[in-house]
Amino acid sequence: EVRFERVWKRFGAGNVAVRDVSFTVPAGTLCTLLGPSGCGKTTTLRMIAGLEYPSEGRVLIGGRDVSALPPAERDVSMVFQSYALFPHMTVLENVCYGLTVSRRPKREAMGAGRAALESVGLAGFEARLPSELSGGQQQRVAVARALVLEPSVLLFDEPLSNLDARLRRKMREEIRDLQQRLGVTVVYVTHDQAEALAISDKIIVMNQAVIAQEGTPRELYASPASAFVAGFVGEAN
Ligand code: ATP
Repeated sequence: EVRFERVWKRFGAGNVAVRDVSFTVPAGTLCTLLGPSGCGKTTTLRMIAGLEYPSEGRVLIGGRDVSALPPAERDVSMVFQSYALFPHMTVLENVCYGLTVSRRPKREAMGAGRAALESVGLAGFEARLPSELSGGQQQRVAVARALVLEPSVLLFDEPLSNLDARLRRKMREEIRDLQQRLGVTVVYVTHDQAEALAISDKIIVMNQAVIAQEGTPRELYASPASAFVAGFVGEAN
């Protein structure tokens, strides 16, 4: 479970990125943070990851207050929009990097890396370089690299925005399948309404640093609480 309790994030005077936000993402569910550019969704995700710290309020993961803890102590891992793969390392080395940094024995790390690659459909690609893969395959490597750490919470920051529309649809189904198979808690940032409606157990719509509405895709679509939500969620159709 991920929980925000009255969280604020200010970047200097007068610049409020997140304003008094509270929500709960139940364990084992996929929740999207949906909203237009600049609404505060990436900052929210980064506060779960430990890449930003709240100015006020508490962030809890699995009931534990992690507000002041660094990323490595949070049991989360993040898949970035840019994939952030090391170009000079093979696919397997990229996936295992986090494990070797944490001093896991090499043989054990490699075994875990192979298993993670298999779970994203990339068995056989271990020795390739990232530049020898398609965009979708690179994205899968980034997912495998997050999975290998066996986090209880996986974070995605617009992971599909560099892919074409057809591949985006395919990959979002893959991410949803993987999440359900592993039973992991996922928080997924997107500005794409169709993506949010397709994959989420719950959608949190953000606008101007606050939550405009939260609910299941069906609830938001059928009963938008404001003209903003209606316009934003409805645009998909
Ligand atoms: P996008 O989809 O464009 O990334 P977003 O909804 O994820 O938008 P955030 O990136 O969370 O929005 O940004 C929210 C607000 O906080 C914006 O006004 C942004 O300029 C500001 N902000 C974010 N990070 C910083 C920072 N490091 N320093 C100063 N201001 C920041």
